[in-house]
Amino acid sequence: VQSTPPPEEEDSGASEMENTHIPEGSGGIELLCVVRAVLKKIKRRVLVGDRVLVGSIDWVDRRGMIENVFPRKSEIPDPPIANADHFLVVFSLDQPKVEPYSLTRFLVEAESAGFPLTLALNKCELVRDEVLVEWKTRLRQWGYIPIFCSVESKRGLDSLAFYLRDRTTVIVGPSGVGKSSLINALRSTDQTPTLMEDGSLFDHISGSKWFDEQRVGEVSARSGRGKHTTRNVSLLPLAGGGYLADTPGFSQPSLMKVTKQTLAQAFPEIQKKLEANKPKGCTFNNCLHIGEPGCVVNGDWERYPYYFQLLDEIKVREEFQ
Ligand code: GDP
Ligand code: ZN
Repeated sequence: VQSTPPPEEEDSGASEMENTHIPEGSGGIELLCVVRAVLKKIKRRVLVGDRVLVGSIDWVDRRGMIENVFPRKSEIPDPPIANADHFLVVFSLDQPKVEPYSLTRFLVEAESAGFPLTLALNKCELVRDEVLVEWKTRLRQWGYIPIFCSVESKRGLDSLAFYLRDRTTVIVGPSGVGKSSLINALRSTDQTPTLMEDGSLFDHISGSKWFDEQRVGEVSARSGRGKHTTRNVSLLPLAGGGYLADTPGFSQPSLMKVTKQTLAQAFPEIQKKLEANKPKGCTFNNCLHIGEPGCVVNGDWERYPYYFQLLDEIKVREEFQ
Protein backbone atom coordinates (compact mmCIF):
# COMPACT_ATOMS: atom_id res chain seq x y z
CA VAL A 1 0.00 0.00 0.00
CA GLN A 2 1.50 3.29 -1.06
CA SER A 3 1.88 5.68 1.80
CA THR A 4 -0.03 8.90 2.23
CA PRO A 5 1.20 11.44 4.75
CA PRO A 6 -0.27 11.12 8.25
CA PRO A 7 -3.31 13.28 9.00
CA GLU A 8 -2.74 16.60 10.71
CA GLU A 9 -2.56 16.19 14.44
CA GLU A 10 -5.85 16.19 16.27
CA ASP A 11 -5.87 17.39 19.81
CA SER A 12 -7.84 14.49 21.18
CA GLY A 13 -7.48 13.67 24.86
CA ALA A 14 -4.42 11.49 25.17
CA SER A 15 -5.15 7.97 26.36
CA GLU A 16 -3.51 6.55 29.42
CA MET A 17 -1.08 4.64 27.25
CA GLU A 18 -0.05 7.68 25.28
CA ASN A 19 0.69 9.46 28.52
CA THR A 20 3.15 6.83 29.57
CA HIS A 21 5.41 6.75 26.56
CA ILE A 22 8.53 8.80 26.07
CA PRO A 23 7.68 12.29 24.79
CA GLU A 24 8.07 12.51 20.99
CA GLY A 25 11.09 14.08 19.40
CA SER A 26 13.69 16.14 21.11
CA GLY A 27 13.46 16.77 24.82
CA GLY A 28 12.31 13.23 25.64
CA ILE A 29 13.66 11.76 28.81
CA GLU A 30 15.77 8.69 28.26
CA LEU A 31 16.19 6.06 30.94
CA LEU A 32 18.52 3.11 30.90
CA CYS A 33 16.29 0.22 31.97
CA VAL A 34 16.50 -3.38 33.03
CA VAL A 35 13.59 -5.75 32.57
CA ARG A 36 11.80 -7.02 35.66
CA ALA A 37 12.61 -10.68 36.27
CA VAL A 38 8.97 -11.77 36.34
CA LEU A 39 8.51 -10.53 32.76
CA LYS A 40 11.39 -12.71 31.62
CA LYS A 41 9.95 -15.64 33.51
CA ILE A 42 6.66 -15.39 31.62
CA LYS A 43 8.63 -14.87 28.40
CA ARG A 44 7.32 -11.36 27.73
CA ARG A 45 10.04 -10.08 25.45
CA VAL A 46 10.56 -6.37 25.35
CA LEU A 47 11.04 -5.20 21.79
CA VAL A 48 12.40 -2.00 20.38
CA GLY A 49 9.39 0.27 19.99
CA ASP A 50 7.42 -1.16 22.90
CA ARG A 51 5.42 1.13 25.11
CA VAL A 52 6.38 0.15 28.61
CA LEU A 53 5.55 0.95 32.19
CA VAL A 54 8.71 2.04 33.97
CA GLY A 55 9.07 1.95 37.73
CA SER A 56 11.85 2.34 40.32
CA ILE A 57 13.06 5.43 38.50
CA ASP A 58 16.31 6.94 39.63
CA TRP A 59 16.22 10.46 38.16
CA VAL A 60 19.81 11.26 39.06
CA ASP A 61 21.35 8.27 37.34
CA ARG A 62 18.44 8.12 34.89
CA ARG A 63 17.77 4.44 35.34
CA GLY A 64 14.58 2.48 35.68
CA MET A 65 12.97 -0.91 35.66
CA ILE A 66 10.53 -2.11 32.99
CA GLU A 67 7.54 -3.37 34.97
CA ASN A 68 5.15 -4.16 32.13
CA VAL A 69 4.68 -4.04 28.37
CA PHE A 70 1.54 -2.47 26.89
CA PRO A 71 -0.38 -4.23 24.12
CA ARG A 72 1.25 -3.75 20.71
CA LYS A 73 -0.46 -2.15 17.77
CA SER A 74 1.90 -4.01 15.43
CA GLU A 75 4.82 -6.39 15.57
CA ILE A 76 7.22 -7.35 12.81
CA PRO A 77 9.56 -10.32 13.21
CA ASP A 78 12.61 -9.41 11.17
CA PRO A 79 13.93 -7.01 12.33
CA PRO A 80 11.95 -7.39 15.58
CA ILE A 81 10.14 -4.09 16.19
CA ALA A 82 6.90 -3.28 18.01
CA ASN A 83 4.42 -0.53 17.17
CA ALA A 84 5.92 0.47 13.84
CA ASP A 85 3.34 1.88 11.43
CA HIS A 86 5.28 2.86 8.30
CA PHE A 87 8.01 1.48 6.05
CA LEU A 88 10.58 3.55 4.22
CA VAL A 89 12.19 1.56 1.42
CA VAL A 90 15.39 3.25 0.23
CA PHE A 91 17.32 2.53 -2.95
CA SER A 92 19.78 4.73 -4.83
CA LEU A 93 19.65 5.72 -8.49
CA ASP A 94 23.38 5.22 -8.89
CA GLN A 95 26.27 3.79 -6.88
CA PRO A 96 24.61 1.28 -6.58
CA LYS A 97 21.94 1.48 -9.29
CA VAL A 98 18.41 0.26 -8.60
CA GLU A 99 18.20 -3.47 -9.13
CA PRO A 100 14.52 -4.16 -9.98
CA TYR A 101 14.32 -7.69 -8.56
CA SER A 102 15.99 -6.67 -5.30
CA LEU A 103 13.68 -3.64 -5.07
CA THR A 104 10.72 -5.97 -5.59
CA ARG A 105 11.82 -8.18 -2.70
CA PHE A 106 12.05 -5.16 -0.38
CA LEU A 107 8.65 -3.89 -1.52
CA VAL A 108 7.07 -7.31 -1.00
CA GLU A 109 8.54 -7.54 2.49
CA ALA A 110 7.28 -4.07 3.37
CA GLU A 111 3.81 -4.69 1.84
CA SER A 112 3.45 -7.92 3.80
CA ALA A 113 3.77 -6.05 7.11
CA GLY A 114 0.40 -4.53 6.30
CA PHE A 115 1.24 -0.89 6.85
CA PRO A 116 1.86 1.98 4.45
CA LEU A 117 5.18 2.33 2.69
CA THR A 118 7.11 5.17 1.14
CA LEU A 119 9.68 4.52 -1.57
CA ALA A 120 12.68 6.86 -1.70
CA LEU A 121 15.26 6.85 -4.47
CA ASN A 122 18.39 8.53 -3.16
CA LYS A 123 21.50 10.02 -4.81
CA CYS A 124 19.28 11.64 -7.43
CA GLU A 125 21.91 14.32 -8.06
CA LEU A 126 24.08 11.64 -9.70
CA VAL A 127 21.72 11.01 -12.63
CA ARG A 128 20.21 13.04 -15.45
CA ASP A 129 16.57 14.18 -15.27
CA GLU A 130 15.63 11.68 -18.02
CA VAL A 131 16.59 8.84 -15.70
CA LEU A 132 14.24 10.19 -13.05
CA VAL A 133 11.42 10.40 -15.59
CA GLU A 134 12.08 6.81 -16.73
CA TRP A 135 11.95 5.50 -13.16
CA LYS A 136 8.87 7.51 -12.35
CA THR A 137 7.02 6.05 -15.33
CA ARG A 138 8.23 2.54 -14.67
CA LEU A 139 7.41 2.59 -10.97
CA ARG A 140 3.97 4.04 -11.61
CA GLN A 141 3.25 0.88 -13.59
CA TRP A 142 4.33 -1.16 -10.59
CA GLY A 143 1.90 0.88 -8.48
CA TYR A 144 4.32 3.22 -6.70
CA ILE A 145 5.16 6.90 -6.75
CA PRO A 146 8.79 7.36 -5.66
CA ILE A 147 10.27 10.29 -3.79
CA PHE A 148 13.54 11.34 -5.42
CA CYS A 149 15.99 12.57 -2.85
CA SER A 150 19.63 13.34 -2.28
CA VAL A 151 21.43 13.67 1.00
CA GLU A 152 24.15 15.39 -1.00
CA SER A 153 22.04 18.13 -2.58
CA LYS A 154 19.25 18.01 0.09
CA ARG A 155 16.62 17.55 -2.62
CA GLY A 156 13.49 15.75 -1.41
CA LEU A 157 14.48 15.71 2.25
CA ASP A 158 11.58 18.01 3.20
CA SER A 159 9.06 15.70 1.50
CA LEU A 160 10.58 12.72 3.26
CA ALA A 161 10.40 14.46 6.62
CA PHE A 162 6.72 15.14 5.90
CA TYR A 163 6.01 11.45 5.27
CA LEU A 164 7.89 10.43 8.41
CA ARG A 165 6.25 12.92 10.73
CA ASP A 166 4.62 11.42 13.83
CA ARG A 167 5.05 7.88 12.58
CA THR A 168 7.29 5.05 13.68
CA THR A 169 9.10 4.20 10.49
CA VAL A 170 11.22 1.17 9.72
CA ILE A 171 13.90 2.08 7.20
CA VAL A 172 15.07 -0.75 4.92
CA GLY A 173 17.12 -1.14 1.77
CA PRO A 174 20.38 -2.64 0.54
CA SER A 175 23.66 -1.39 1.93
CA GLY A 176 25.37 1.58 0.35
CA VAL A 177 22.21 3.38 -0.80
CA GLY A 178 22.50 6.08 1.86
CA LYS A 179 20.24 4.93 4.71
CA SER A 180 22.63 6.01 7.46
CA SER A 181 23.23 9.31 5.70
CA LEU A 182 19.47 9.87 5.43
CA ILE A 183 18.95 9.01 9.08
CA ASN A 184 21.61 11.49 10.10
CA ALA A 185 20.03 14.16 7.94
CA LEU A 186 16.55 13.57 9.35
CA ARG A 187 17.03 12.72 12.98
CA SER A 188 16.87 15.08 15.88
CA THR A 189 20.18 16.27 17.22
CA ASP A 190 19.47 14.47 20.49
CA GLN A 191 22.11 11.83 20.88
CA THR A 192 21.30 8.28 21.83
CA PRO A 193 24.02 6.57 23.88
CA THR A 194 26.90 5.01 22.01
CA LEU A 195 27.93 1.44 22.68
CA MET A 196 31.63 1.46 23.63
CA GLU A 197 34.28 -1.21 23.02
CA ASP A 198 34.19 -2.35 26.66
CA GLY A 199 30.44 -3.00 26.48
CA SER A 200 29.46 0.13 28.35
CA LEU A 201 27.11 2.79 27.04
CA PHE A 202 28.43 6.32 26.71
CA ASP A 203 25.70 8.82 27.45
CA HIS A 204 26.23 12.01 25.45
CA ILE A 205 23.74 13.96 27.51
CA SER A 206 25.28 13.43 30.94
CA GLY A 207 28.76 12.63 29.63
CA SER A 208 28.91 9.50 31.75
CA LYS A 209 29.44 5.82 31.07
CA TRP A 210 27.10 2.95 32.00
CA PHE A 211 28.10 -0.56 32.64
CA ASP A 212 25.39 -3.02 33.45
CA GLU A 213 25.81 -6.78 33.25
CA GLN A 214 22.05 -7.32 33.21
CA ARG A 215 21.69 -5.12 30.20
CA VAL A 216 24.06 -7.05 28.00
CA GLY A 217 22.29 -9.12 25.38
CA GLU A 218 18.95 -7.58 26.20
CA VAL A 219 17.16 -4.94 24.28
CA SER A 220 17.31 -1.86 26.42
CA ALA A 221 14.41 0.54 26.28
CA ARG A 222 16.88 3.29 25.87
CA SER A 223 19.03 2.34 22.93
CA GLY A 224 18.06 -1.11 21.73
CA ARG A 225 21.68 -2.12 21.64
CA GLY A 226 22.98 -5.30 23.19
CA LYS A 227 26.61 -6.16 23.58
CA HIS A 228 26.56 -9.51 21.84
CA THR A 229 24.16 -8.69 19.07
CA THR A 230 25.67 -8.00 15.71
CA ARG A 231 22.34 -7.00 14.21
CA ASN A 232 21.22 -3.89 16.05
CA VAL A 233 17.94 -2.11 15.98
CA SER A 234 17.59 1.35 17.43
CA LEU A 235 14.75 3.80 17.48
CA LEU A 236 15.87 7.34 16.78
CA PRO A 237 13.75 10.42 17.45
CA LEU A 238 13.19 12.57 14.37
CA ALA A 239 13.58 16.32 14.25
CA GLY A 240 9.97 16.71 13.05
CA GLY A 241 8.44 14.25 15.55
CA GLY A 242 8.11 10.49 15.25
CA TYR A 243 10.77 7.81 15.20
CA LEU A 244 12.96 6.08 12.69
CA ALA A 245 14.00 2.51 13.39
CA ASP A 246 17.51 1.99 12.13
CA THR A 247 18.16 -1.65 11.31
CA PRO A 248 21.78 -2.25 10.36
CA GLY A 249 22.48 -5.88 9.57
CA PHE A 250 18.98 -6.50 8.20
CA SER A 251 19.84 -5.69 4.62
CA GLN A 252 18.17 -8.74 3.08
CA PRO A 253 14.40 -9.23 3.25
CA SER A 254 13.60 -12.63 4.76
CA LEU A 255 10.03 -12.77 3.35
CA MET A 256 9.23 -14.85 6.43
CA LYS A 257 5.68 -13.55 6.76
CA VAL A 258 4.78 -14.03 3.09
CA THR A 259 2.90 -17.17 2.04
CA LYS A 260 1.88 -18.53 -1.39
CA GLN A 261 -1.60 -17.19 -0.83
CA THR A 262 -0.58 -13.74 0.47
CA LEU A 263 2.16 -12.97 -2.06
CA ALA A 264 -0.35 -11.61 -4.60
CA GLN A 265 -1.48 -9.00 -2.06
CA ALA A 266 2.03 -7.53 -2.14
CA PHE A 267 1.78 -6.79 -5.89
CA PRO A 268 -0.32 -3.69 -6.67
CA GLU A 269 -0.47 -4.84 -10.32
CA ILE A 270 -2.36 -8.02 -9.35
CA GLN A 271 -4.64 -6.13 -6.97
CA LYS A 272 -5.49 -3.69 -9.75
CA LYS A 273 -6.44 -6.51 -12.13
CA LEU A 274 -8.55 -8.23 -9.50
CA GLU A 275 -10.23 -4.93 -8.69
CA ALA A 276 -10.99 -4.29 -12.38
CA ASN A 277 -12.64 -7.72 -12.67
CA LYS A 278 -14.88 -7.44 -9.64
CA PRO A 279 -17.19 -9.03 -8.71
CA LYS A 280 -16.35 -12.04 -10.89
CA GLY A 281 -12.63 -12.45 -10.25
CA CYS A 282 -10.64 -15.63 -10.88
CA THR A 283 -12.55 -18.91 -11.24
CA PHE A 284 -10.77 -20.53 -8.31
CA ASN A 285 -10.80 -18.56 -5.11
CA ASN A 286 -7.37 -19.93 -4.15
CA CYS A 287 -5.99 -18.97 -7.58
CA LEU A 288 -2.23 -18.29 -7.56
CA HIS A 289 -2.48 -16.48 -10.92
CA ILE A 290 -0.02 -18.67 -12.75
CA GLY A 291 -2.13 -19.65 -15.72
CA GLU A 292 -5.04 -21.44 -14.01
CA PRO A 293 -8.19 -21.67 -16.16
CA GLY A 294 -10.40 -18.63 -15.64
CA CYS A 295 -7.62 -16.52 -14.06
CA VAL A 296 -8.13 -12.79 -14.66
CA VAL A 297 -4.49 -11.93 -13.94
CA ASN A 298 -2.58 -12.45 -17.15
CA GLY A 299 1.19 -12.16 -17.35
CA ASP A 300 1.38 -8.94 -19.41
CA TRP A 301 3.13 -6.85 -16.76
CA GLU A 302 6.82 -6.20 -16.10
CA ARG A 303 7.16 -7.82 -12.68
CA TYR A 304 5.24 -11.00 -13.50
CA PRO A 305 8.49 -13.03 -13.78
CA TYR A 306 9.49 -11.74 -10.32
CA TYR A 307 6.13 -12.77 -8.91
CA PHE A 308 6.68 -16.22 -10.40
CA GLN A 309 10.21 -16.46 -9.00
CA LEU A 310 9.15 -15.38 -5.50
CA LEU A 311 6.27 -17.82 -5.55
CA ASP A 312 8.73 -20.61 -6.33
CA GLU A 313 10.98 -19.56 -3.47
CA ILE A 314 8.05 -19.49 -1.04
CA LYS A 315 6.78 -22.88 -2.26
CA VAL A 316 10.19 -24.44 -1.56
CA ARG A 317 10.32 -22.84 1.89
CA GLU A 318 6.81 -23.98 2.75
CA GLU A 319 7.57 -27.55 1.66
CA PHE A 320 10.55 -27.74 4.00
CA GLN A 321 8.79 -26.18 6.97
P1 GDP B 1 23.83 2.71 3.94
O1 GDP B 1 24.72 1.51 3.83
O2 GDP B 1 22.55 2.51 3.17
O3 GDP B 1 23.59 3.16 5.33
O4 GDP B 1 24.58 3.90 3.16
P2 GDP B 1 25.48 5.09 3.74
O5 GDP B 1 24.63 6.13 4.37
O6 GDP B 1 26.59 4.50 4.53
O7 GDP B 1 26.04 5.71 2.37
C1 GDP B 1 26.86 4.99 1.47
C2 GDP B 1 27.68 5.99 0.68
O8 GDP B 1 26.82 6.79 -0.15
C3 GDP B 1 28.45 6.96 1.56
O9 GDP B 1 29.72 7.16 0.99
C4 GDP B 1 27.61 8.24 1.49
O10 GDP B 1 28.40 9.40 1.67
C5 GDP B 1 27.07 8.17 0.08
N1 GDP B 1 25.81 8.92 -0.10
C6 GDP B 1 24.74 8.95 0.72
N2 GDP B 1 23.78 9.74 0.22
C7 GDP B 1 24.26 10.24 -0.94
C8 GDP B 1 23.71 11.12 -1.94
O11 GDP B 1 22.61 11.63 -1.86
N3 GDP B 1 24.52 11.34 -3.04
C9 GDP B 1 25.76 10.79 -3.17
N4 GDP B 1 26.45 11.08 -4.27
N5 GDP B 1 26.27 9.98 -2.25
C10 GDP B 1 25.56 9.70 -1.15
ZN1 ZN C 1 -5.91 -15.83 -10.82
